[in-house]
Amino acid sequence: MIQACVASGWSLSSPVLLTLLVCFGVVMLAHWVTRQRDFPGRDSFILLHLASLWWMGAAALEMSFLGADCKMFWASMAWPGIVATPTFWAVFLWQYVNSMREPLPRKGILGLSVVPLLVWGLALSNPWHGLFYGAGSAPIDDSLGAPVRYEHGPLFYAAAVYVYLFMAFCMGVVTRAAALSQGLHRRHYLAFVLVTAVPWVANVGYVGFGWTLFGFDPTPFSFAFTLVAFSWLIVGVRLFDLLPVARHLLLEALLDPVLVVDPSRRVIEANPAALKLAGLQQGWQGRELKQWPVFGADLQALLLEHAGEHDRPLTLTSAARYYEVRLRAIERATRHGPALLGHMIYVRDVTQRHLSELKLAEALALSEERLRTISSLHEQLREQALCDPLTGLYNRRYLDEFFARELARVQRENLPLAVALIDLDHFKRLNDECGHLVGDDVLKAVAQHLLDNLRSTDAVFRIGGEEFLLILPGADPDEASARLQSICSQLAAREIATRGGDQRVTLSAGLAYWPQQGQALDELLHAADAALYQAKRTGRNRVCSLDESARVSHPSR
Ligand code: GH3
Ligand code: MG
Ligand code: MG
Repeated sequence: MIQACVASGWSLSSPVLLTLLVCFGVVMLAHWVTRQRDFPGRDSFILLHLASLWWMGAAALEMSFLGADCKMFWASMAWPGIVATPTFWAVFLWQYVNSMREPLPRKGILGLSVVPLLVWGLALSNPWHGLFYGAGSAPIDDSLGAPVRYEHGPLFYAAAVYVYLFMAFCMGVVTRAAALSQGLHRRHYLAFVLVTAVPWVANVGYVGFGWTLFGFDPTPFSFAFTLVAFSWLIVGVRLFDLLPVARHLLLEALLDPVLVVDPSRRVIEANPAALKLAGLQQGWQGRELKQWPVFGADLQALLLEHAGEHDRPLTLTSAARYYEVRLRAIERATRHGPALLGHMIYVRDVTQRHLSELKLAEALALSEERLRTISSLHEQLREQALCDPLTGLYNRRYLDEFFARELARVQRENLPLAVALIDLDHFKRLNDECGHLVGDDVLKAVAQHLLDNLRSTDAVFRIGGEEFLLILPGADPDEASARLQSICSQLAAREIATRGGDQRVTLSAGLAYWPQQGQALDELLHAADAALYQAKRTGRNRVCSLDESARVSHPSR
């Protein structure tokens, strides 16, 4: 058939060349689209290109061959393209509008190809059944290569109905999308509706009113136009790039004001929160930042001062409200380094946070103050618990703790230690003669006398009514004995002023040495007690230590 056609003659008329040019354009478009970013339904979009390419290729051949039979053959050959074009168009629109990114399964493609192939077979077999094109199909005039006017048979109309169903589906999909969407999206989908209407108009014009392009069905050409328009809408306008749309929506939804200013500090974008704060609705675009109703001058000053600092929060205070301002330079990389496109200004009302922070700091200061009071009270209590209220000396409660610490220290430092048990002489008598209060005064004075004779590492405890214990870390027997004797003789030598007049009192002391006379406090106390007993027995007003009678001495009076 093809050979017969070639033999019957063909010509490359200008419509044919134009059609081939459009075909080439569609191929390039398909190639370009495949290399563009991904968009929903891209595979179907490419199949749609191929189908329309087939259709136009067949149309070009129909135009170029001169014989009427050849023309009818190529008209039949066009059918798979004619039916597949709206089919995949419908699939593409459905996927695009519903943002379905997964490619069409192979089974689906095969299923959708059944009818186009069937129609193809029916068209090609027309010479045998005549149900597609009627016998009346013939060239419009006698001129060579004149276009054929087709008489349409029932199969043609059946195929047409199938095609129209898909086209109606396409129209329904985009119309619905336009109706359901808003703003920019609605405009985008309305453009889709318009573009989708073009092949409808072309086809209805051709079938109903005999409109032709180069004496030919204009529908395939309208599809080529549609493809270009769609490609531009999808890839060129980039409206459906998810990220810019998402960011725009985010900006709209943000409760904090955001302004975008150009390099000459004119406001070119403001989100609804910013407009609300400024009390503006329209006519604000291009306004100078310093003229912006709320904070304009402040923001301008911040921008001039801190433009170079990236993302450092700045603060703004107005009418007892606190705002945090962030400035972001918007830059574009160029060959000569970054070019400044403007700034984004993000204003955040942090009054609540600020006040909470202040409150928190206050509460913190208060609780710190309380903690200090509590710990000082605690310290006082401890002192009170460990100290004797009459003399202010440590009492027995502190003795164990102190001794354990000092013992560990002298062990570590390899030092001696001495303890001295002191008991006032004939104190009962003093009480009896002068009264308890005078006795108390004497006790206080003796305590002070002991304290006055201590070294920084020593400690003195009141362990009984008129009994005291001295601990002398680092003092060997000689030193301890000498110091105790000095204490003893000095006390004996002095007059103690009391409320009942001056009094004299003497003490007796028993010394014990660590480690010679005991390891533990109990042992040492025991030894010291025995020595004290010896001091009392041998006449009082003296210092004794066990087994070392040489050390027993009588202080001079
Ligand atoms: P000795 O020389 O044998 O020690 O005779 P002494 O009278 O001191 O006998 P002892 O040590 O047994 O007497 C303790 C007396 O100390 C008994 C009590 O009257 C007196 N005393 C104890 N505690 C206090 C006190 O807190 N205040 C006063 N004023 N006297 C006290
Ligand atoms: Mg006593
Ligand atoms: Mg006594």
